[in-house]
Amino acid sequence: AAANIGVVGLAVMGSNLARNLASREGNTVAVYNRSRTKTDELVQAHPEAGFVPAFSYEEFAASLSKPRTAIIMVKAGGPTDAVIDELVKVFEPGDIIVDGGNAYFPDTIRREKAVRDTGINFVGAGISGGEEGALLGPSIMPGGSDESWTTLGPILKSIAAVAEGEPCVTHIGHNGAGHFVKMVHNGIEYADMQLIAEAYDLIRRGTGKTPAEIADIFAEWNKGELESYLIEITAEVLRQIDAETGKPLVDVILDQAGAKGTGAWTVQTALSLGVPVSGIAEATFARSLSSHPEQRAVASILPGPGTDFAVDDADAFIEDVRQALFASKIIAYSQGFDEIRAGAAEYDWTIDLGAVSKIWRGGCIIRAQFLNRIADAYAEQPELPVLATSPYFADALTRGQAAWRRVVIAATQAGIPSPAFSSSLAYYDGIRADRLPAALVQGQRDFFGAHTYKRIDKEGTFHTLWSGDRTEIEAEDTH
Ligand code: NDP
Repeated sequence: AAANIGVVGLAVMGSNLARNLASREGNTVAVYNRSRTKTDELVQAHPEAGFVPAFSYEEFAASLSKPRTAIIMVKAGGPTDAVIDELVKVFEPGDIIVDGGNAYFPDTIRREKAVRDTGINFVGAGISGGEEGALLGPSIMPGGSDESWTTLGPILKSIAAVAEGEPCVTHIGHNGAGHFVKMVHNGIEYADMQLIAEAYDLIRRGTGKTPAEIADIFAEWNKGELESYLIEITAEVLRQIDAETGKPLVDVILDQAGAKGTGAWTVQTALSLGVPVSGIAEATFARSLSSHPEQRAVASILPGPGTDFAVDDADAFIEDVRQALFASKIIAYSQGFDEIRAGAAEYDWTIDLGAVSKIWRGGCIIRAQFLNRIADAYAEQPELPVLATSPYFADALTRGQAAWRRVVIAATQAGIPSPAFSSSLAYYDGIRADRLPAALVQGQRDFFGAHTYKRIDKEGTFHTLWSGDRTEIEAEDTH
């Protein structure tokens, strides 16, 4: 038993994570992969890592000191279950199995329960940062028991990204909490990317600037409150020239955005929790819309407003777009944190929202200075019901709302789709409204389904006898 930690699954993520682990003081890493070639290749390519290769699950288990700790990095879904089944056979009570793949959190809840019944600990850990993050330091969102965190915490802290001196890992909560938070992270990432894409599109079509010129604008924005990895890489992508055609690469890439499903999970989960994550939903739907070329070809016969879109004052418009982007981003994050709060209540997790925002400051795709402001907001008020109402964000929304409205109006008049900008603004106006037309919806529900309603002026539940004499009666609550 020479190794203190093992990795199962040595494709790009697993091998990089194994190298990251091996590079840290005090770690000896056992490695195993279903097909032997990947193991041989990794061990040969990195003699400096001192890997302990295993070629069967028995050998893998024998090479680990107790409590045995293994991180699984295989294809999410069936393959993860297959590996867990094998590890459970060779591990003992007290050992720890970590799933570092992109599991859907209900699967993690199910697996944790099944593995716990054997006395072995199971930890679903969301790992963000792609290949580079796995190698150099990802943001890690582990769930699982407190007992497993005692052993696992120091190991994960040693390999996580560091932001302002703090490792980007914290024990999120029990069973599926880590994968839940990773899911919402990805949903927020979808929204952030879509908002940036809408900002680019509006500037390009409104001002006629080239992608390279817009890259400079994003690089400038990256020095201010929008500073983030996604803004930084946007400038890089926009500046790239295609070697074959000499055109900006962004003009050569087919305009169909793919998705691996985590955005859809975030939205599906939000729908069942009753949380309006409209920014994330619109971002997910925007990718779906882009990926139906046959529909888009047919729909191109539909008319637009028939006017050219050219703004009078390019600089003023660009500043408006910047403010609209920041305001919409605040709403998207506010909605995402709302989903985590609701998920924690539903699944009985204690999740420190401020700690979540802190571990997203480094390693992951949505890393940004901005997350410090979220941490501040929750430090001031841990039970904050709407993140966007914290003083810093409320002030930014107050300053930005006029520009935000101008941008949404301009986009609408020009016939430029801006679903994330406009749905975020609609959410803002909805959540702050004194009174909503939901009253009428409830009246309609009472009319056709006797679903009853509450009154603003007295306690109780009421129903109007719509098909009778239309008097109001007290009723059982069937909301
Ligand atoms: P893949 O998702 O491509 O998975 C390939 C690995 O899974 C190989 O090691 C393969 O073994 C193994 N595997 C597949 N089926 C089985 C099985 N039935 N039994 C045992 N092993 C099996 O690898 P990645 O490195 O891209 O990702 C690993 C995990 O990390 C995934 O869950 C992914 O979602 C997640 N992730 C990926 C990120 C990324 O940027 N790529 C970012 C964050 C998380 P073999 O060599 O024998 O085929």
